[in-house]
Amino acid sequence: MNSFTHNSTHPQHTLPFSDNTSVILGGGLAGLSAGFSLADAGRSVTVFESDKEVGGLSKTIRHGNFKFDLGGHRFFTRNEETERFVKNILRNDYLTVHRKSKIYLQKKFFDYPLKPANALLGLGVSTTIRAISDYGKEKIKNLFISPQNISLEDWVISHFGRTLFTLYFKEYSEKVWGISCKNISEEWVSRRIEGLSLGVAIKNALFKLNGRRVPTLVDEFIYPPMGIGQISDRFKEEIEKRNTVLTNTRVSEIKHRNAVITNIIAKNCDNTYDLKGNEFISSIPITHLVSMLNPSPPIDILTAVSKLKYRDLVIVTIMLNRERVTDLTWLYLPEQSMPLGRIHEPKNWSPYMAPEGKTHIVAEYFCFKEDRIWNSSDEELVSMTVKQLEQLGFIKKNDVFDYCIVRVPKAYPVFEVGYNEQYSKILQYLENFKNLHIAGRTGMFKYYNIDHAIESGREVAEKIIQNSKLKITNQL
Ligand SMILES: Cc1cc2nc3c(=O)[nH]c(=O)nc-3n(C[C@H](O)[C@H](O)[C@H](O)COP(=O)(O)OP(=O)(O)OC[C@H]3O[C@@H](n4cnc5c(N)ncnc54)[C@H](O)[C@@H]3O)c2cc1C
Repeated sequence: MNSFTHNSTHPQHTLPFSDNTSVILGGGLAGLSAGFSLADAGRSVTVFESDKEVGGLSKTIRHGNFKFDLGGHRFFTRNEETERFVKNILRNDYLTVHRKSKIYLQKKFFDYPLKPANALLGLGVSTTIRAISDYGKEKIKNLFISPQNISLEDWVISHFGRTLFTLYFKEYSEKVWGISCKNISEEWVSRRIEGLSLGVAIKNALFKLNGRRVPTLVDEFIYPPMGIGQISDRFKEEIEKRNTVLTNTRVSEIKHRNAVITNIIAKNCDNTYDLKGNEFISSIPITHLVSMLNPSPPIDILTAVSKLKYRDLVIVTIMLNRERVTDLTWLYLPEQSMPLGRIHEPKNWSPYMAPEGKTHIVAEYFCFKEDRIWNSSDEELVSMTVKQLEQLGFIKKNDVFDYCIVRVPKAYPVFEVGYNEQYSKILQYLENFKNLHIAGRTGMFKYYNIDHAIESGREVAEKIIQNSKLKITNQL
């Protein structure tokens, strides 16, 4: 029998529970899609989310009359079933946005993905010839010697040549990941070349990919009119018809006995909850999950966890007394001389993101929590951002009338060379628990986009539903 109790001086807070309760840790897209699918199948669900709103990395912040994502979030998938699922959740309330992006290199703006004429003119004929000849050299070399790719640098050079690596991959990758390309695992880039798209763009521009749908290069994507957070808000609304989503409530302990998770402890400012359940789905960072287990895992597992790193993110949004600043979806800024990594103007994604006559620019800084950027004051961050936007010729300081800063921990799992050894060890340990399931980007330590996060939540829910059907059949 499940039970839901709390201990505090506050009045008893009762929540519906039943014999088939699934407890979900984390109310990002993975946790919510799992919760929605289970609730839709008539099961009992409780979602715990530490933040004041659901959505995790895919939430939309509201600041006065302005809305913005934590870095522009487009929805695109190759999976038609997932596309239908998301459109249904949105009740077909979405915009189709035409993508127009640029990349700022060597003090020039290039179309992104690069167009051959644009790339040729911008790079100059000699660099273009060098890039093509380097690429050809690598292709010929690969015919005779199979490349030994360990790092991102090895992999990119063997696939695109050194000139393209240096021009387009190196600086941006090192800005995003905060480590040398020699230390970024090849496994990541080879599986998800679309994620590191600059080289694909060049290859597409110069050598023409056979027209296949490379997600990074698609021209159109789906976007909810009120921001990407609309997807999570809709999930929450559906789950709450018969179940509970507790925001502002952090899971702090996960108790287990005989390889079974028995209950979790979660806290908010009013209550401490002690919730039992049959199945537990974790979409919170895998490092948090392991460190909250009680009894604690063996020391080698804790050591493995301490070696997994996440990259953090600072979002600086500045509000402007201007109707529009750019006509771009994204602008990529790889140059190391500029701390900024990428910007977007939400009004170019949906006109409902800013009031008439005003606009805002969202600037992304990739960093670690120990870095100067993360620890700078809000005023320093705004002044630094305004200065760079002025340098790029987009704004004047006097246009700025407000700002909003969001510090986003654990935005990207970092795939350092050798990470997989630690990760496999942790996974193997977690697989011992019969009723624990992991899902999502931070939860599974995978470079998942929205579609993958949603799919992973749905897959876990489906597994739970199938297992319980099987149990019932066996009992008959
Ligand atoms: C800058 C940036 C841009 C992106 N752009 C795109 C894009 O354009 N398109 C795309 O498809 N994808 C994009 N993504 C990826 C997308 O954001 C993720 O794939 C998706 O949001 C992951 O959802 P999730 O539920 O797996 O994880 P998360 O969103 O990380 O959810 C985990 C949740 O767990 C909560 N939590 C953590 N600890 C606890 C605890 N102890 N107790 C309770 N709750 C807890 C967190 O608050 C969070 O809400 C982008 C990501 C970033 C960082």
